[in-house]
Amino acid sequence: MNLFALLDQTAARHGDRGAVYHGERLVHTWSSLRERALRLASSLREFGPGARIAVASENRPEIVELMFAIWAAECVFVPLNYKLHVREMEQILSDAGAARVFTSPKIGAELAPVASTGIEIIGAAEYESRCAAMPSPAPRDTDPASPAWLFYTSGTTGRSKGAMLSHRNLMAMTVSHLADFDCPDENSSLIHGAPMSHGSGLYVPPYVSRGARQVVPASGTFDPDEFLDLCESHPGCSAFLAPTMVARLVQTGRACPANLRTIVYGGGPMYVDSLKKAMAAFGPVFVQLYGQGEAPMTITGLRRRDHLDAPDAVLGSVGYARSGVDVAVLGPDGAPVAVGEIGEIVCRGDVVMSGYWQNPEATEAALQHGWLRTGDMGSFDAHGFLTLRDRSKDVVISGGSNIYPREVEEVLLEHPGVVEAGVVGAPDEEWGEVVVAFIVGAASAADLDAHLLERIARFKRPKRYEFVDELPKNSYGKVLKRELRARLG
Ligand code: AMP
Repeated sequence: MNLFALLDQTAARHGDRGAVYHGERLVHTWSSLRERALRLASSLREFGPGARIAVASENRPEIVELMFAIWAAECVFVPLNYKLHVREMEQILSDAGAARVFTSPKIGAELAPVASTGIEIIGAAEYESRCAAMPSPAPRDTDPASPAWLFYTSGTTGRSKGAMLSHRNLMAMTVSHLADFDCPDENSSLIHGAPMSHGSGLYVPPYVSRGARQVVPASGTFDPDEFLDLCESHPGCSAFLAPTMVARLVQTGRACPANLRTIVYGGGPMYVDSLKKAMAAFGPVFVQLYGQGEAPMTITGLRRRDHLDAPDAVLGSVGYARSGVDVAVLGPDGAPVAVGEIGEIVCRGDVVMSGYWQNPEATEAALQHGWLRTGDMGSFDAHGFLTLRDRSKDVVISGGSNIYPREVEEVLLEHPGVVEAGVVGAPDEEWGEVVVAFIVGAASAADLDAHLLERIARFKRPKRYEFVDELPKNSYGKVLKRELRARLG
């Protein structure tokens, strides 16, 4: 089983129809997309099956052909969040042992001075000559357990871990999406508002399998007005958006375009109040997913109809188990807890990763007795609705991006003026959460900002600094994050 089959079958059925659009401009039909992916695939064969091929780019139409070319060549797609600092990108490239990285011109120029991996610029002459190679045959005998995608999530230890997602994992995700959430066809469109390196890219397979257009905004990023305009010019639109992006759509004050059918939100908390405002503005187009890179887009969910006339407890939940996924809440003894009791959320099914790339310790901690330990705490109600209560990993989710406090703390502590640092998330209307740093030491906020800007991605910087005499600690000397959060009111 190879995910390339999804494109192959769609091209056979709908060859002449539009497949990839850049804004309103048609870039490829399904036939030309298939042809180009197979030509690119034959040129990638020099790296051998299983080679990791990275892609670091803002959203671009070529990401779709690269994804299928990499699969057709039986290589592994390793997308990098284009908002990462180039030093962070380089860490991922070397962890993955990437054979090549395809970048947009802008990222290529920034990455070149630090990259140890060969860089190729998407759309440049060398890239186009790859696309002119003799097409390779479509793959027929790929082992479904072989990795198709290395999904990098930051570890709580600060080191990125690559969740290995196989062809089978992504096929299970595809089937579950089509069963639970959406039923696109050749008159539908997937608008890539969110980064294609993560959630939006993961939805390429289900929509390609039904022949739905892949629409990449011309800006390469999320602009709410551009997004809504595209929903007016393309048929039957669906999109995955982080909760912050949904809030920004509502802020435009525009009515729901007639062609906008489905917005899947998730990846971070959506506050009930914001969801109600969004439903009032756009109507019954919302679907919620709860998932993580290790079980891509697929642990629990709230279907469209679950949102209708739902009580706050349902709107504030993450819904119920997705098709093909077992979900349980376990107590400290590893046994399921009673309804209403809080424990660690675990799940199992064909969608769950096989482990972290070359990281057996982290794999062993995450996969136990056949279950994926999500690190999220939650409880079930009597009807099987799951509510997230806390995140044991203390991750801050700001604007849909995960920020790991430990990573920010470590960089803050590299500053000579910082004695201690404690980073937490504070609830925020616009971003979901924002990063706040409690600092013991003599540095100024401006100093710390400048220090961080040189070392980590902009979006991870604290929006606020609180200077304190000491950090609250327990008897083992561990900083009490709960107490820091409580101080934020
Ligand atoms: P990532 O692996 O980067 O996708 O992050 C996954 C984490 O995001 C999960 O473990 C949850 O803590 C959080 N998350 C995902 N979906 C939701 C949701 N619908 N509501 C609240 N938090 C979520």
